[in-house]
Amino acid sequence: MALRAQKIALKPSEKQVAMFCRHVDFARVAYNAAHSESRDAARWMSVYDIKKAFNSRKRDVFPEFADCSQNAGKNAIHAFEDARQRWKSGQNNRPKRKTHKSKPSFQIDNGVGTVRITADGNAAVLPKIGHVRLREKPRYVGEIRRAFISRKASTWFISILVEVDVPEPPDTSALPPAGCDVGISALATMDDGTVYENPRALRVNERKLRRANKALSRKTFLSRNWWKAKERLARLHARIANIRSDAHHQATHRILQGISALGIESLTVKGLMKNRKLSKALADASLGGFLVKLKYKAVRRGIRIVSADQFWPSTQRCSSCGYVKRGEFKLTLKDREYHCGVCGFVEDRDVNAAINLRQLASSTDESLNACGDAVTPTLVGWHQNPRVRGRSRKPLTEQRLVDFAHGR
Ligand SMILES: [Zn+2]
Repeated sequence: MALRAQKIALKPSEKQVAMFCRHVDFARVAYNAAHSESRDAARWMSVYDIKKAFNSRKRDVFPEFADCSQNAGKNAIHAFEDARQRWKSGQNNRPKRKTHKSKPSFQIDNGVGTVRITADGNAAVLPKIGHVRLREKPRYVGEIRRAFISRKASTWFISILVEVDVPEPPDTSALPPAGCDVGISALATMDDGTVYENPRALRVNERKLRRANKALSRKTFLSRNWWKAKERLARLHARIANIRSDAHHQATHRILQGISALGIESLTVKGLMKNRKLSKALADASLGGFLVKLKYKAVRRGIRIVSADQFWPSTQRCSSCGYVKRGEFKLTLKDREYHCGVCGFVEDRDVNAAINLRQLASSTDESLNACGDAVTPTLVGWHQNPRVRGRSRKPLTEQRLVDFAHGR
């Protein structure tokens, strides 16, 4: 048994949208009540005492939420307790109060089986709110453990956690390995030359975004037209995010078909983001999200992911003879082709890197776990320099470097 989460867009009626909004308010009020009550007491109150105190006065203080499901308030208090525990264990910062700007969401279930999907898969049945139509049928069928309602740019979603039977991942050992170079210009380049383009959603929509931002700034703050302009801007942002994630899902799905192992580079996206020239394009490609999808899908399909060490020279290594470029022979960001000075091998820069990563994936131990990091292979003569120790005045070529490394 395993838990699977899925998020489905809803088609609520106007009345239901109003109910959703009230539940969001109720959840926020309950969370903030828990926040202030736990803090004001001389000692930390337990979550049960907080709930008891809130329940005893909620009818007097918040009569407007009388027709809301009590689950929204109760779950918000539990969410606060969770945040408090994370803070105490040093994992997170101290929980803050929720404001109107916080993400509009609430948890509607009251344990296993209190929220269900109708048999035809067209609607969700929620406590106090009733049947809410779904925009698509759920992918996983089973008992619902938890259900959250949230809003993103005027669309309401339900996120459900379902317990499902998961079949063992298929045996892929007979299939060939593959290598994949992840980058900005192309999202992914495979060792066979297949290129998965990066949609550059932000760059394509930059002008629209600028206009939507300008339109918003020209409206009177909090006027009806201001809200409309804000809505338009939010929808555009959501659209950009959707374009990105769609491209990621399609690419990862295709990459992981018919292979047993996949060699990738372990990117330090955080470090790369410090480069101001690259950061915008990098954020637009959202490589971190791409790798997350690649990894969890690989685990489900029984594919080994071999991520190369950060310093493994996948770009500088010749995939034909194993020679590693260094010093003045190094490939710069401009060079789009790899020319080997030792064996004469010529290949596209990214394809060469992908072939290197495939070789790494096929050479590493079978017992390596799915996210295990591969060790840097020893590179002959990697750290030596014939200029310092050699006496020859002949011009330094890549061939001479290799000869030196082999003691010739
Ligand atoms: Zn070579």
